Amino acid sequence: MGRSPQHVIGFDLGGTKMLATIYDPDGKAIGSSKRKTRGDQSADGIFADICQTLFKAIAEANLTPEDLAGIGVGAPGPLDMAKGILLATPNLNLRRFPLKDRLGKEFKCPVVVENDVNAGTYGEFVAGAAKGFKHVLGAFPGTGIGGGLVLDGKLYRGATGAAGEIGHMILQADGPLCGCGQRGCLEALASRTAIAKEAIGLAANGTSPTIMVQSGTDLRRVTSKALKKAVEAKEAPVIALINRSATYLGMGIANAVNLLNPEVVVVGGGLVEKFGRDYLKTVETALRRFAMPGLVADVKLVAAKLGDDAVARGAAALLLVALAAESTT
Ligand SMILES: [Zn+2]
Repeated sequence: MGRSPQHVIGFDLGGTKMLATIYDPDGKAIGSSKRKTRGDQSADGIFADICQTLFKAIAEANLTPEDLAGIGVGAPGPLDMAKGILLATPNLNLRRFPLKDRLGKEFKCPVVVENDVNAGTYGEFVAGAAKGFKHVLGAFPGTGIGGGLVLDGKLYRGATGAAGEIGHMILQADGPLCGCGQRGCLEALASRTAIAKEAIGLAANGTSPTIMVQSGTDLRRVTSKALKKAVEAKEAPVIALINRSATYLGMGIANAVNLLNPEVVVVGGGLVEKFGRDYLKTVETALRRFAMPGLVADVKLVAAKLGDDAVARGAAALLLVALAAESTT
């Protein structure tokens, strides 16, 4: 007792897993805890799991809740950031859930709740692939395509906290239908879901025997792993499909580069982790082909470095930013 609380927790509330990591005053991770998110539970059940995961991480670091300066949470949107309310979390029974208030009461410390892609981008900015840069664009192709912005060394949220929706940049006026209701969004052209939809067509018409064996024509079973197997089997139509999606991603990033003039673009998420350098090379070729030469010449395109730790790391760092802002007002 009597110690001033200096440790912070970053918490990543994902649709499939949750992760809590404790950072010491030097930013070193000193304890963490992870568990599967059970999406079929009630809101109170999910909240109990969140608290358990946090308590376990605290114990793992040999600390008590009194040692915490606060909790930073990264959660999938849409959110009411100011109030820390989860409005409608995809795959979870959380509707208008006041996470900031509930955690604040339980742990008796300040809490910030941030969009998970913003937190992930910020994590790469403070401790990952974009460390040392001031102007960063993050793009994360996976089930959807998320984007985040750090401009002038600060996370850029826009007027309502929704800035950075690179996935819904429209690249093809009459393109495939997107989950948002529009046609031809980057997400509808280049996400894993978009690739999977077309891969099913290849399985059905006999041009991808590997996808047929791995996944049949079940969209949910067309995983990155199944796609990778088809690429390894040198199935030209699948390779072309993935190259085309990477090209669209590069085109979307080129538009964002023209608009925002970043120094570095960090690309992370499932597709990059699975397809690695070849995928990134195709993205980069398209970026350099479609962006204005003067703007893109010095832009670096890099793979995200922190993987599953990015969101927790960024959420913890954003908590520290919020605490510092409070202490100066
Ligand atoms: Zn869209």
